Amino acid sequence: MECWQPAASFKIRGIGRLCQHYFAQQKTHFVASSGGNSGLAVAHAAAALGVKATVVIPETTLPFMRKKISDYGATLVVCGRVWDEADAMARQIVAESEVNAYIPPFDHPTIWQGHASIVDELDHDMVKRPDAIVLAVGGGGLYCGVVEGLQRGGYEDIRLIACEPTGAPTFTQAVKRHTANSLDPNEIHTICTSLATQRVAEQALVDYQRHPTTILTVPDEQAVLACRDFLNDHRVLVEPACGVALAPIYNDHPALKDCRSLVVIVCGGSVVQFESLQHELTKIS
Ligand SMILES: *Cc1c(COP(=O)(O)O)cnc(C)c1O
Repeated sequence: MECWQPAASFKIRGIGRLCQHYFAQQKTHFVASSGGNSGLAVAHAAAALGVKATVVIPETTLPFMRKKISDYGATLVVCGRVWDEADAMARQIVAESEVNAYIPPFDHPTIWQGHASIVDELDHDMVKRPDAIVLAVGGGGLYCGVVEGLQRGGYEDIRLIACEPTGAPTFTQAVKRHTANSLDPNEIHTICTSLATQRVAEQALVDYQRHPTTILTVPDEQAVLACRDFLNDHRVLVEPACGVALAPIYNDHPALKDCRSLVVIVCGGSVVQFESLQHELTKIS
């Protein structure tokens, strides 16, 4: 239930670890370029460490996400229509001073190390070893972290079910096209914004070769319905990016047929409100 982490997603595991790393190196200003959960995690980590954070966001970032980020005390800078432009600005700000540190959303070994702690905790808590772990994939930071944890713990046989939106099949295409830069912006059509990346980490392709992984693509409607079902079952609201990992369970996906015991990483996410879920549901029925 990573939805109960500070900043409401698993992101704090890896981002928090990277921020601590830079803090130990006397960096006192973290700079990020995400209006989503990773920007929120950076803002939280900076507040917890008592240092400054600047989050550069594109104009499209929703007002309630802007408020959440600035409520942590982070400085918001709005730049450009798309993430690339915001990211270029973030890197420009980083270059201005020695005390600044750039915090990427998913592509950094220290981030994967932090995410790997999920497996250490499972190892400690689980009575029974699961047959598979189901998780959502955007840029693949969570995936790389879980693979790292499984390999380190001697769990090479625990299969990963990596789920991504049909409208942003980044990992599927990266494997197919043998390149981490797998999608054009015009190939991305999904409401699961936290998973709408054009590329995966190179490491995700390496990990795909060394760890048994099944990639599933999930239509937005199924992700939204899974969010509704999860809300009804557990009284917990998660964003559609997380619904992508829940949908195969609710739909008895054939890929899970042989699994007697499963772990689902409920990655959580703040990019959802009751009204936004309701709006998406009315589009389906
Ligand atoms: C970031 C995020 C993901 C995807 O993580 P990656 O490391 O980019 O693959 C999935 N769900 C939520 C809620 C996220 O915030």
